[in-house]
Amino acid sequence: MNIPLFDLSEQNAALRPEFDAAVARILGSNQYILGKETEAFESELAVAAGVGHAVAVSSGTDALVLALMAMGIGPGDEVLCPDFTFFATASSIARLGAVPVFVDVDPVAFNLDAADAARKVTPRTKAVIPVHLFGQAADMEAVLQLAAKHKLQVLEDAAQAIGAEYRGRTVGNFGDFTAVSFYPTKNLGGFGDGGALFCATAEGAEKARVLRNHGMHTRYYHRWIGGNFRLDNLQCALLRVKLPHLEEYARKRSANAALYLELLQNTPGLVLPRVLPGNVSIWNQFTVRVEGGRRDALRAALTARGVGSEIYYPLPLSRQECFASLPPSACPVAERLCGEVLSLPIFPELGEERVRHVAAALKGSLAGL
Ligand SMILES: *Cc1c(COP(=O)(O)O)cnc(C)c1O
Repeated sequence: MNIPLFDLSEQNAALRPEFDAAVARILGSNQYILGKETEAFESELAVAAGVGHAVAVSSGTDALVLALMAMGIGPGDEVLCPDFTFFATASSIARLGAVPVFVDVDPVAFNLDAADAARKVTPRTKAVIPVHLFGQAADMEAVLQLAAKHKLQVLEDAAQAIGAEYRGRTVGNFGDFTAVSFYPTKNLGGFGDGGALFCATAEGAEKARVLRNHGMHTRYYHRWIGGNFRLDNLQCALLRVKLPHLEEYARKRSANAALYLELLQNTPGLVLPRVLPGNVSIWNQFTVRVEGGRRDALRAALTARGVGSEIYYPLPLSRQECFASLPPSACPVAERLCGEVLSLPIFPELGEERVRHVAAALKGSLAGL
């Protein structure tokens, strides 16, 4: 049996007639950018995600850039972000001329270590970006305490965590702004690039909407230098078809995860992911740690057995070539994780039989190394 890391075909086939109808509606609408379709998507998204204000944008990366623009981040500012996350978290800071300051993560939930963040605050620190990695919320109480103490703005990177909960509230309710992504592998996966920015206040949302459209408040009158961060109505229409299924997708991922946890418990050399008390994960990834320097060999063995996997992420951001000129920022846990992590198939439609097959392949491969 061949099992890919990720496969959307079943999920998308089930909704094909609705997608076709949505496309036909937009093609015949004579309105392809902004207006009613975008607004309808935004209000439905805000309800589904349990947040107050949602602004649809062109990608998760653009949501981060737009948020930092709205927060007034620029040259001379420092922004704290985890060393172990997708590149866009940090590149968005650098693209605005500010300095990403890399913070270590905790080895259990893979999220920002607030104690290390506190050690790296300077008088130039303006903001912090907690990432809710792999679908599980960061320790927001600790992050918010740190932010209050040093008057930092908070931008949640929830690209992988739409719908995840922290102590009874969904992510997107803690920071000044929250970025989410509709990249196809994310829990709400679109048909191309897309994202959204959740905003804590109506004023923040209004500013984000203006910045999304070249900082233009009245036609051809520009208050700020924004950008083109708009999301096509075609994409909004397609995402509106998937939105009612978001919880169901998370439930199915969660069932896959629960079965992996049962089947793989007490496997020597394997550290399983853990959901911390108070958290509800949406399981965007199921990421194990392989001890004893055997991660790459295990991955090769799984590939040979037709089981897909991926390394999120192989190199800490602080060691990326493009950040070589930044001052060093020690993050030993992030370093170690990059050599140990391996993400397994977890997409909603995977189902019991394939989870059992992956678990057996993994145990068999590990035992043979
Ligand atoms: C996917 C992702 C992004 C960027 O989203 P895009 O829509 O691909 O631009 C940012 N941060 C994290 C943590 C992500 O996983």
